[in-house]
Amino acid sequence: MQRTLFLDADDTLWENNIYFERVVAAFLRKLQRRGVPTAIARQRLWDTEQRIIRRFGYGSHPFCRALAEVARQLACPDLTGWIYEQQKFLAHHPIELMPGVAQTLPALAECNRLILVTKGDPEEQLGKLHRAQLARYFTATEVVFEKNVATYRRLLRRHRAHAAHSWMIGNSPRSDINPAKAAGLNTVFIPYHTTWQHELEEISSNGGHTLVLDHFGQLADHFLDTRVLSPPATRRSPRSRSAHQESRA
Ligand SMILES: [Mg+2]
Repeated sequence: MQRTLFLDADDTLWENNIYFERVVAAFLRKLQRRGVPTAIARQRLWDTEQRIIRRFGYGSHPFCRALAEVARQLACPDLTGWIYEQQKFLAHHPIELMPGVAQTLPALAECNRLILVTKGDPEEQLGKLHRAQLARYFTATEVVFEKNVATYRRLLRRHRAHAAHSWMIGNSPRSDINPAKAAGLNTVFIPYHTTWQHELEEISSNGGHTLVLDHFGQLADHFLDTRVLSPPATRRSPRSRSAHQESRA
């Protein structure tokens, strides 16, 4: 059976969270200049964003909806125009690939079946894939509302993939690693350099081992032969790292 690599997109293939973090920092500065203490504004934004995510999912639109709601709550409706400009930028900014992706992804596609699995708004996520010019390497693209155990089981069935011959590769323990392990997949964790507070989570000790890499290019050391392999022998214990967070989507 052919090996299937399910690949996360945001902060695994391309930069994403840094743009949101820049907007948050600018938003907090603007509120501070209007007399709102940063700690209060940050907590209000966190609470509002978590509530909106549960209803509307991930991506720039729910994020900017949260910004607008917080601005109204804190009596700063004059920020509406600025928030709209941020939303346009977040939806259309140029794509910056993560280190090693441009060189490694084409080679991985020659030896594996690649399926993109990403959270968020389909139009927004497919737009990023188009701007990244990486679509040709994937046999399928899945934009899902949430990445949980049921999601991974559904993906295995839909793509007729065997869990033991499948890998989920991404930067989020909560979304890419732990639920995929619970569904029986092999996993590769590639930590991201900035994180989002949304999902503090240790890598689960349940399920198979997790291969931990420093960057995307190291996938070439493990997935460029055409045989279906057992999990690589070279592993670092994910427990050597402290609490992990995930970036947006
Ligand atoms: Mg990600």
